Amino acid sequence: MDDVVIIGGGVSGLAFAFHAARAGRAVRVVEQDARIGGCVDTRTSADGFWIELGAHTCYNSYGAFLELLEGLDLLGELQPRGKPVLRFADGAILPGKNLGGLLRRMSLLQLARSLPRAIGASPEGRTVQAHYGRIVGAGNYERVLGPMLSAVPSQRADGFPADMLFKKRPRRKDVLRSFTLKGGLGAMAERIRRQPGVTITTGRAATAVERDGARFAVVLGDGERLAAELVAIATPPRTAARLLAAIIPGAAAQVGEIAEAAVESLGVVVRADRVAGVPYATFVIPLGPRGDIFHSVVTRDVVADPTWRGFVFHFRPGHTEDDKLARIAALLGIERGDIAYRAERSTVLPSPVLGHRDVVVGLDAALAAERIAVTGNWFAGLSIEDCVLCSRAEWQRVAAPRA
Ligand SMILES: Cc1cc2nc3c(=O)[nH]c(=O)nc-3n(C[C@H](O)[C@H](O)[C@H](O)COP(=O)(O)OP(=O)(O)OC[C@H]3O[C@@H](n4cnc5c(N)ncnc54)[C@H](O)[C@@H]3O)c2cc1C
Repeated sequence: MDDVVIIGGGVSGLAFAFHAARAGRAVRVVEQDARIGGCVDTRTSADGFWIELGAHTCYNSYGAFLELLEGLDLLGELQPRGKPVLRFADGAILPGKNLGGLLRRMSLLQLARSLPRAIGASPEGRTVQAHYGRIVGAGNYERVLGPMLSAVPSQRADGFPADMLFKKRPRRKDVLRSFTLKGGLGAMAERIRRQPGVTITTGRAATAVERDGARFAVVLGDGERLAAELVAIATPPRTAARLLAAIIPGAAAQVGEIAEAAVESLGVVVRADRVAGVPYATFVIPLGPRGDIFHSVVTRDVVADPTWRGFVFHFRPGHTEDDKLARIAALLGIERGDIAYRAERSTVLPSPVLGHRDVVVGLDAALAAERIAVTGNWFAGLSIEDCVLCSRAEWQRVAAPRA
């Protein structure tokens, strides 16, 4: 029997594993995919050039994540990132960059009329669209700022609670302001795999969690039952709801109502001399409201390489591979044959709406007396830091001695 079984090997599940293993517990992480990391998904070409299909940037405000990296002896592996240059696309990449490019695409009259409303405007209780539309004007939001903010959660963010999107946190002055890891963020997942006390089982999905006296049993797809003293669920919300159904059906039903969105990411690596037409370090956002078939293009140029360049396109779901490759070739001005390496993933992300906090409060109350933890990117926010904070707090809750 394992002391702790964790369902889901993304950063939330892995951070939970890190804390449990450090406390001396025997931990098993069950991951349905062949690889661990979830949205932290570094892929490396045969030439050793890596791209991030999911998360790419961490900040010195990620205190809980930095604590984890420190515990994994990875602080010496931080890799500085150059500044990406924001550019908009309307079919092709448009002239103008960063704030200049942003202002060039907005109606300045509308902005001047709206900006006074920004003073003291609180995001509390408002959707992203209502809050930011009030600040820049509805038209500017729809055409420019809305698509830009959609790049953060890789889906239309209009209905998100505005206070979930960005957070102010204290910064660690001794750490690079924005960083990744040498070889990519996947190094973190691989280091957790090697922690004493951690066993990883990949390629197997958990289908149910059941009570077994004072313990739990995690049921796998092939019928195997893993007995555990403590279970942590670290999956997207709808799967978490299914797994919770036999234990706390009321809260599970509410969690099951949380909407999810899919994003399909396709990364390409091209020789630098084949893609000279794309300005260095360009991060692309398509202008709305017509938009494009992608939400954003993330550049690997921020960790420069003399030979290769990498671009990861985050597509809306429902397009064929052929459409995606055609769009990539057109935007980058390359032939498909120029693509030296490519990799793809499909991700399920939460789509919280106003009232989300009440669902989380209800779940927390239902879990208070249980030795079952639930963590993920759908509690306080989507960032890696939100995930690690949530997992650390859940570990502390379930590990605390019971009266
Ligand atoms: C394109 C993109 C870019 C991003 N960029 C950044 C960034 O730059 N900085 C940042 O801080 N954040 C970023 N994020 C957000 C952040 O990466 C994610 O929110 C975070 O990594 C989610 O981690 P998680 O473990 O909660 O969920 P996931 O990564 O989704 O992991 C959940 C895991 O559970 C597994 N699973 C599901 N069901 C089962 C089951 N039944 N049995 C077993 N396993 C199961 C899944 O396969 C998955 O591996 C980005 C996200 C995306 C998609």
